[in-house]
Amino acid sequence: MLTSLIKFTKSDLARYPFLKESAEYVKSLDIKVEDLQSPEFSRVLERARERVEEAILYTLVSRKLKHEEIEILSFPVAIMLTVATGNNFIKERYALAEAKQAYLDMKVESKEKIMAIAGNFSWRIWLASEAPYTFKIHFSDCLRNTVHLRDKKWKLVNRLMAGGTVYLTRSETARLLSEEVRRHIKRRLEASEVPKLPQFITDVAQKLSMLTVEKIGKSELEGMPKTVKVEAFPPCVSALYEAASTGRHISHIGRFTLTSFLVNIGMPIDAIIDLFRNSSDFNERLTRYQVEHIAGERGSRTKYNPPKCELLKTHGVCTNPNGVCAKINHPLAYYLRRGTAAKTGQRATNNKMLN
Ligand code: SF4
Repeated sequence: MLTSLIKFTKSDLARYPFLKESAEYVKSLDIKVEDLQSPEFSRVLERARERVEEAILYTLVSRKLKHEEIEILSFPVAIMLTVATGNNFIKERYALAEAKQAYLDMKVESKEKIMAIAGNFSWRIWLASEAPYTFKIHFSDCLRNTVHLRDKKWKLVNRLMAGGTVYLTRSETARLLSEEVRRHIKRRLEASEVPKLPQFITDVAQKLSMLTVEKIGKSELEGMPKTVKVEAFPPCVSALYEAASTGRHISHIGRFTLTSFLVNIGMPIDAIIDLFRNSSDFNERLTRYQVEHIAGERGSRTKYNPPKCELLKTHGVCTNPNGVCAKINHPLAYYLRRGTAAKTGQRATNNKMLN
């Protein structure tokens, strides 16, 4: 197990930015969060933003090894941006995306480097000489990383074992290591205290949150409040909600906006139908049909999203926009931001860049 003799190159640190050596390298540069605003570091911030965006859109983070320094530095900045979104969906997605790319890299990596990476996570790992296996690892390292893997091949009863070790091919070892990487990144993203971050960082984080709302099915977003929070409704939806509750007339697009908004934030269908009950022309059968259609439970099974602010403005549905409205372009982005504000409100002062 001569892992201590392996020295990671700068290219390795760029490829595997989650390593302790990468974190130490970043720490040695003593870069402050404010430095990221300078032209010198603008590419680092841009690459960090891109990392998170790629994770949201493709569940994979590309490797851009031509500029190793940017690649290494952008990883902790991407962690910081992800934490700043306060969005659990983005956190899960980012950890998974980095781990998936690490798997692709590690499965074609040299045996020595794989052992050194495993050593970074304190694995007990040895070379195996029994074909087709390349490595054997302590069974506890195997168990810890197969908990969430469904394939029966990962059950210990289905593995070749000897003397408390489990035999693995190179690809299998990379797979289990990627699971270790995912959990390692997730732990870093679950920092209980979010550092106080400058506005330019929170602005980027906000844009990433909005991108998530636009591109990903809203019900998938774990960042959505678990219960309906009326106080987090945007002004337009609050006005529509109030009008519906008191039986006042609502335009067709207003009804559609209100219904699709409530469906997407998880309000039960019966509760939405009840909301329209005070309307003078209320028809339960027709209302149920319309609500279930918007919820994707009828017809084409498509769940509809509320229109963007731009369209709502042109139809006169945008009502009393406030300061939060100036930073979003979709009513669900408003709700996501307000609904998770409590979490991101817990901030501690910290000028150092996350590492
Ligand atoms: S800006 Fe958007 S979220 Fe805010 S009130 Fe107008 S339509 Fe609603």
